[in-house]
Order: sequence, then structure tokens, then C-alpha cells
Amino acid sequence: MKKKNHKYIFVVGGVMSGVGKGIACSSIGKILQSKGFKVNPIKVDPYLNVDAGNMNPTEHGEVFVLDSGLETDQDLGNYERFLEMDLSSADYMTSGMVYKHVLEKERNLGFKGKCVEAIPHITDEILRRIKKAADFHESDISLIEIGGTIGDYQNILFIEAARTLKIKYPQDVIFIMVSYLPVPGSLGEMKTRPTQNAVRQLNSYGVQPDLIIARGVEALDYKRKEKIAMACAIAPENVISAPDIESIYDVPLNFEKDKISSIILKIFHLRSKTNGNSLKDWKEFVHKRAKAQKEIQIAVVGKYFDTGDFVLSDAYVSVIEAVKFSSYWNGVRSKLTWINSKEYEVGTRKVSELKNYDGVIVPGGFGESGVEGVIMSIEYTRKNKIPYLGLCYGMQLAVIEYARNVLGWSDANTAEINPESSRVVIDIMPEQKKLLEEDRYGATMRLGAYPAILKIGSIAFEAYKQKEILERHRHRYEVNPEHIEEIENAGMVFSGVSPDGKLMEIAELPREIHPFFLGTQFHPEFKARPLHPHPLFSAFVESCIRVKGKK
Ligand code: GLN
Repeated sequence: MKKKNHKYIFVVGGVMSGVGKGIACSSIGKILQSKGFKVNPIKVDPYLNVDAGNMNPTEHGEVFVLDSGLETDQDLGNYERFLEMDLSSADYMTSGMVYKHVLEKERNLGFKGKCVEAIPHITDEILRRIKKAADFHESDISLIEIGGTIGDYQNILFIEAARTLKIKYPQDVIFIMVSYLPVPGSLGEMKTRPTQNAVRQLNSYGVQPDLIIARGVEALDYKRKEKIAMACAIAPENVISAPDIESIYDVPLNFEKDKISSIILKIFHLRSKTNGNSLKDWKEFVHKRAKAQKEIQIAVVGKYFDTGDFVLSDAYVSVIEAVKFSSYWNGVRSKLTWINSKEYEVGTRKVSELKNYDGVIVPGGFGESGVEGVIMSIEYTRKNKIPYLGLCYGMQLAVIEYARNVLGWSDANTAEINPESSRVVIDIMPEQKKLLEEDRYGATMRLGAYPAILKIGSIAFEAYKQKEILERHRHRYEVNPEHIEEIENAGMVFSGVSPDGKLMEIAELPREIHPFFLGTQFHPEFKARPLHPHPLFSAFVESCIRVKGKK
């Protein structure tokens, strides 16, 4: 049973994918928060993967990790960033997850011999999960984003579940369609027909949208709002104009130009719990972004940048956003240049080009290809005192570079690449090794939030200004405890370690040796927020600005 008066907003996509349902959902949530409501976002991914862990980031975009360790779609990252929330496993659902639960229940006689069917058993399980998430967050309004586009077979059961909820609680459920209005080059005008067709398709499922968010390259004029309204049986005011804009963080303010919050609250018979000043902090951030003009140059050196046809900004979206937040609050814009490390290996680029950058980031990664090129760039960055931030693999490879070039262990390596090396400085932990031998890859990663204790006086401690931190992980390998003492004696400082002292979480070089050289075993980018930039990214950006100033 749902909480009395609890409201549900289902967000579906019309016409085509990739038009920004996730950002629309996050923005609506942000606006409702500013009206004093507690919201909880849920992402529904219709694919059969049980989670996003085994999905290729170059095809599907970044795998976003929650505190709980659940590997999810990048949209959860947008929700967390916009809504300033730490989401839970209850806030993400895939068809695979739903089916798995129902099938296991069937195997355990959970249906007491009844015939188990997609409707109602799968739809009931979908609704059970939606209600569970609302209860967990004790929210007033749930925002449920249904992945895919209207007309897909895969998401029909989710829409059917939502429809039954609307039948049961007509006052408490609304549907928003995020649609797209193309401007064919030959005509030069916005066409409404695909949207009309998408709404008809949704109608054929027994669902009528309450609002339509009309995405497009331009703003929607009133004439076209009326046309959509007439064809789709919806008030013209309920068609929200959502043109392409420079920054996704402007979207909430843009939606409010068309009064989206008052329309939603009116349908729900709710009144704003706040007055004036809504979105004040958000506006300050948007203003900071618009004002930041000075540019710093950051090279991102990695190994996945050569597949040609995938969108980099998707595979590394959290890193990119984390850099942006810290940059804007420091009054600068960061221009990121993506460098494929393999080019350093084959000589089509020279590492000395890195002297033209104000900072270097090496993000996470897996496997062997391009790794030697990354190590070459770390060596150059370290020796030439260019600010360096290594994220996960970027920390492990920095330790390997140090072992090879400072300690002279020329074949130092990670067990991921060469377990036969005479110095395996990055190794699999014994518990993980056993699982790997049994081919249970899914279970071999350290996933989710783990605490670390920081060394007082270190760069990390100065950045966080606290002794204990909690950061999210997604990796198999760790600094090998056998070599820690020798590496530290050679000057590298492990400034963050697990509470039991066994796992090295942060590696850095002292300030006297290098202006900023730091790597993290965890992924700080998952916890960076527009209104709360991540302290390590901020420390990195600040050092880039300082070093640039001295050039
Ligand atoms: N491949 C490394 C590991 O598994 C690093 C993973 C990462 O960068 N996320 O430990």
C-alpha cells in the first residue's frame, strides 16, 4: 500500500532516444525540491542485464557506482548531482533484475503453484520496487524515468505497470513525455508530427501524457504548442519548450520559464511549501559557470579513446563533470584534451607535448592496451612537475611508474598485465584471487563506498580537511602490501589507507618534490556535485591554476 497522498511522476521518451530524459527528470526533481518537496528518482532500464556492471562503457556510457556498490546507468549520476542525494540500490531497476526476482520466487514455490505471468506478476514486482524506493526515502514525490522510447517492446511492461497505478490512484500519478521536434534541413522549420505520433502510440497503451517536454534545437513557438495541444488533447501551457542550451545545469531554470512546477503542483493539487528565493544556490552555481572565462588546459591521457565512433563524454561523464564543478567555483573553465596513450607508444605523438598543459588526468581503465603510453606520460608529468591526478588505474600506474623509474625495478607491473613480473607492485588480494580462479568475475571487484583514514599534513588531508573519508570503488587490484615499505622509503606517500591499514587508498608525492601529484584507488568523481565540488578535484584544479600563473 502506498503512503497516502504520495505522488508519482513517470517520465517516458517519445520519437527517439538520447534527447535528455535523464536531465529532464533530474531538473524536474530539482525544481520540486526547491518547492519544499522530498523527491526520489528511480531509473528503469529495460535491458535484461541484471545491472550495468558487465556493460561496455564505450558502447553504453559510464558505469556509475552507488555507495552500496550497485553498478548502474550514468543517469543515476545525473540524479545524484542535480538532487544532492546519495542513491540506493532501490533506486535502479532493470528488466533483468525484475525477472530474476520473479523467477527465483517461482523456483522457491513463492507463487504457491499458480501460473506465473508477465501480467500481473512482473508488473506487480515493478510496482513493489517503486513503492519500496519511495518508502526508503520517505519521499513525497517519486520520479520514475522509463528508459527507451515509446514504441519499444522492451519497456511495455513498465508502462503497463505505471498505467495500472494511474487507474488505481488517478489523482496521484502523472505522465510526462519528453519528445523531440526535428527541424529538417530542407524545410528549416520545426515539425510536430513525430510527437503527435508518439503520443498516439502512448495512447494505444492506455496512457495519456499530462505534460509534453518538447526538445528541439530551438524554442517552441505558441503556434506549435497549440498544434501539439490540439492533436494530443493536452493544454498548450502543458507543452514545455526545451530548446538545446549551452549547459545541462541551465535546464531547471529553463523549465521554470514555462512554469513547469506550477503545472505539476496544480495537477497534483499541491501547494509550494516555500516562497521566493527558490533555486537560489543553483542560480549562484549557474552564474559562476557563466562568469568563468579564463581557461586552463588539461590533458586526459587514457586508453579507450581510439574507437572512433563512441561518445567520450558519455564514457567519462562523471570525471568531466567533476572537473567542471571545481573549475567553475575557482572561476575558470577547463578545456579537456583527450589523448590516446597508444600514440605515445608508437611515436605518432611525443610525451613532451604535455608541457603545453596545465594539468594531466589519467582516468580509470582495465587491461593491457595503451598502458605503457600512460606510464610514459606519468613519468613526464612527474619529472616536469605538471599537476597530476590519477583515478584508480591512474593511481596504480603512477605507483608502477615510481617503482620502475625511481626504485629502479624495471619490470615492475600489475598482476592484471604481467603476474610473472619480478615485482608485482599492484596485485590481486588473496580473497579475490580465489574468486577469479573460479571464473566468478562478477564477484571479484571491490565495489561501492569504503572508508579511508588520511595522514595529517598530507595533500589529501589538506584538501578534505577531515581525517576519515568515504569514497566509492570499482576495481580488482590493490597496491601489494609486500612492497609498500620500500616504495614509501623511496619518497612516495600513501596518505590514505583503509582503517585496518592494509589497503592503500591514496598515493601522493610531497609538496616539496612536486606541486601536485596524487592518485586515488577509489573514484572521487562519483561524489562530485555542482554545489559541492569534490575536494581532490578542487585541489588539483587550484594547483593547475597556480602552476599556470608561474609559467
Ligand atoms: N584495472 C584496475 C583494477 O581492476 C583499475 C580499475 C579502474 O580503473 N576502475 O584494479
